[in-house]
Amino acid sequence: MFIDSHCHLEKEYYPDIDEVISASKDLNVNLFITAGTNARTNKEAMDCAHNHEEVYACVGVHPEYQDGYTDEDIEILKGYIKDDKVVAIGEIGLDYHYEGYDRNKQITLLEKQLKLAEEYNFPVVIHSRDATEDTITTLKKYNVKGVIHSFSGSKETAQIYIKMGYKLGINGVVTFKNAHIKEVIKDLEIENFVLETDSPFLTPVPFRGTQNIPGNIKYIVDFLSEYLGISSEEIANITTKNTHRIFDKLNK
Ligand SMILES: [Zn+2]
Repeated sequence: MFIDSHCHLEKEYYPDIDEVISASKDLNVNLFITAGTNARTNKEAMDCAHNHEEVYACVGVHPEYQDGYTDEDIEILKGYIKDDKVVAIGEIGLDYHYEGYDRNKQITLLEKQLKLAEEYNFPVVIHSRDATEDTITTLKKYNVKGVIHSFSGSKETAQIYIKMGYKLGINGVVTFKNAHIKEVIKDLEIENFVLETDSPFLTPVPFRGTQNIPGNIKYIVDFLSEYLGISSEEIANITTKNTHRIFDKLNK
């Protein structure tokens, strides 16, 4: 059995979420963490978690909304944190990939949420794109743990995050031809990984190009098993443990 530690089970992508969950269960994925990114999708993630026993939520304001969020959107998170089905604050972080990003605004937004995480002793799910240095510097200011979602950095960066107490989110990118992350994970213990799909994005080979579903964890695990020479069962056991270690609420 596998956990998809990061997906987006939203109506915008999936007209029939029940169907996606059931197809994913057929592929041995039995627990789902759906990630909100703004006020609307946070609410949707909460509702999805409440409507499905096997779905949990994380809630937060993504750097993409550096201009679009209000302080109330952050304030609301305090209530969500107390909900039984909410396991982390995320996805939050820094994204300097597209022109028009505002470094200071993004760091401010991230810090507001890291402060909450620290105050409530709650894990975080971090999105970091083209912003490694600032992500590390900012995270270091707060005593929090969590997952570096869709980790794509260097070996050195991986070691820094691991030392800080973070797990690395490994997804379909690892199956892509020429993905440099392959080289990076080769020398790391799988005790440092959690599995994720980031569905509906980042569909693994052999379905790359189609819409992703959490069940496709199977193909990520098939790849890892072959590539790392570790059985699928062992990958399932260890990554499931890792996920439970980070997201305390899954254990309640
Ligand atoms: Zn995501």
